[in-house]
Amino acid sequence: MSDRETLDFTDPMQRPRFTGLATFFRLPYREDFEADPPQIGVCGVPYDGGVTNRPGPRHGPREVRNQSSLMRRVNQATGVNPFDAAKVADIGDAWIRKPYELEGAHKEIEDYFARVKAAGTRALACGGDHSVSLPILRALAKDGAPLGMIHIDAHADTGDDYGGSRFHHGAPFKVAVDEGLLDPKKVVQIGIRGSLYQADMWKFSFESGMRVMMMEEVEERGWRACIEEAREIVGQTPIYVSFDIDSLDPSLAPGTGTPEAGGITMREAQGMIRRLAGLDIRGADTVEVSPPFDVGGITALNGATVMYELLCVMAAG
Ligand code: MN
Ligand code: MN
Repeated sequence: MSDRETLDFTDPMQRPRFTGLATFFRLPYREDFEADPPQIGVCGVPYDGGVTNRPGPRHGPREVRNQSSLMRRVNQATGVNPFDAAKVADIGDAWIRKPYELEGAHKEIEDYFARVKAAGTRALACGGDHSVSLPILRALAKDGAPLGMIHIDAHADTGDDYGGSRFHHGAPFKVAVDEGLLDPKKVVQIGIRGSLYQADMWKFSFESGMRVMMMEEVEERGWRACIEEAREIVGQTPIYVSFDIDSLDPSLAPGTGTPEAGGITMREAQGMIRRLAGLDIRGADTVEVSPPFDVGGITALNGATVMYELLCVMAAG
């Protein structure tokens, strides 16, 4: 069969991928999502007021949207077509009116995700630096039971005060536990590595009962065993999935603020995300793509691919 028979060029998602405006996955753009809420809303959080090193992830959503144009419809590995399995839309950006005020900016982000939740839409967010996961979790979990979480990252992000604030991108998950948004015993952190300011820099993860899988364990046991254990730990607890692009090896994600050598590959990332199928995923994010430091769009492409895999497990679940 030719393309003329199989593709519907009245559908923007089936036109040549380099044409038109770059929404996430060439989805319809619905800033007014409340009028006709999708089941899954893909959105940007273009904010990087919480970085501690190189900036730039405020530009992440624009570039990930651009690279996400490359995603086709059907996941060849799993057979899932997320756009048939669920009603999905690009619901715009949680953009910030007062970006120079970190805690106020987080409140604006929380308010946006509260709107998304109230519409009955599950969010798949694109950061932004990792500090934005905290206001998303506030919106999702503030009035309910704490969530579990699968967190793939080079850093545990359970630090505390740094430079006079605990709302930077190295501490969101300590604050989230302190605020009752996460159940630390249902939190699994995968891929942690790199150098530390002090040996006990991530002590909160260990003391609170999170399951921390250092990169060395992922290497020695293998990622399949690690993700199977993670599945057992969270069980059917409602979870959030947070993917920091710096979990990838810097050769695969140079465009990020705090790269750490010796990371996971995209094959491992894809395999782990696919094995989240069937879990009760209430929301997810992909954060820390920093286009000003990117090379040839590789980091944004990998960010878009991670988001596509997350979308597939959310839509099929
Ligand atoms: Mn992080
Ligand atoms: Mn990180």
